[in-house]
Amino acid sequence: MTVHHSPDTSLAILGEFGLISRISADVSTHEGVITGIGDDAAVTSLSDGMQLLTSTDMLLEDVHFRRSWHEPYRLGRKALAVSISDIAAMGGIPRWALLSLGVPANTSLGFIDDVMRGFLAMAAESRVTLVGGDTCFSPAGLSISVTIMGEQYPKMIVRRAGAGPDDDIWVTGTLGDAALGLKILEDQCLPHPPPDLPLERGGDGDDFILSRFLNPTPRVSSALALAEAGLATAMIDISDGILADFGHIAEQSGVGGSLQRGDLPLSAEFRSHSARCPLSFDSLPLTGGEDYELCFTAHCDNREKIDSCMKKCGIVATRIGIVTSSPEVIVVNPDGSRYNVLAKGFNHFT
Ligand code: ADP
Ligand code: MG
Repeated sequence: MTVHHSPDTSLAILGEFGLISRISADVSTHEGVITGIGDDAAVTSLSDGMQLLTSTDMLLEDVHFRRSWHEPYRLGRKALAVSISDIAAMGGIPRWALLSLGVPANTSLGFIDDVMRGFLAMAAESRVTLVGGDTCFSPAGLSISVTIMGEQYPKMIVRRAGAGPDDDIWVTGTLGDAALGLKILEDQCLPHPPPDLPLERGGDGDDFILSRFLNPTPRVSSALALAEAGLATAMIDISDGILADFGHIAEQSGVGGSLQRGDLPLSAEFRSHSARCPLSFDSLPLTGGEDYELCFTAHCDNREKIDSCMKKCGIVATRIGIVTSSPEVIVVNPDGSRYNVLAKGFNHFT
């Protein structure tokens, strides 16, 4: 059986179909799967009354990831995590995934095994079933494309459009960590520690910051809780930075917003790292991507309900501003002055 090949076996010996059987041997099946990997198309069944949500994301070597940064297990996890995050952002229940791999000839089977272990670990955590995909040779770089399907009752689906004037703007978790992680990997955050505060690459804070970039957690349960309670008027996952992503909510909803810079939630690790970096990372919490937290809007009467709903999910959500009827999105400093994002290096960091 092909699945018994050792990780040292060359892909040329295993072949396309050998690789597909090796992948499918480790897949566990969850809700709604009638026919999974192995036929011309997967057959799945939506729960009664629910609608299908679909989204696709591509991860290309040296565009979205570098093999020297992303070890394969976390790469596989992240590939699925970012797709699951899109379903979460709609208030959906992630269910089924398709995975298309473009594999360069020099890739070891062990590397693909590790990518798949990471992918399937994330799938198991989220009860997502890998139901199919495509596998081909790539002449230049590894490509990983994931299509995710989820479902939800029509009334509970939360769109980008839906924010109304005077709604609160909320975010889960903390902002800017993933972007700082990227800076650390790019060596743009060279530590200049004061003598009493040694900072070494690979220290505890580094681990947290790096894993926020390399190993993001999609906020599925908190998004679902908000959707099921009907608390969010609009929602998006933060992949491009809160400014851009709230900007999408604003645009789709035909509103604007005022974000309080002093209220942006920052991790202790972010604060201590950026304080020790020679460059200013002031704008990262606004413009840094890949945190995969949720940004949502909600009526101000629902503050307590939201706090308790998030607490039940073990997530902290923070109010960072107010939706406005004028279409502009502005950022306000703690002293009331307007924060000029462009002057603070918006272009530099994007
Ligand atoms: P086809 O020739 O119809 O495109 P393939 O030979 O490409 O079929 O694929 C055979 C089966 O294996 C299909 O069910 C397909 O969805 C699945 N498959 C192919 N590649 C992958 C992959 N990387 N991950 C999961 N399933 C895959
Ligand atoms: Mg095919």
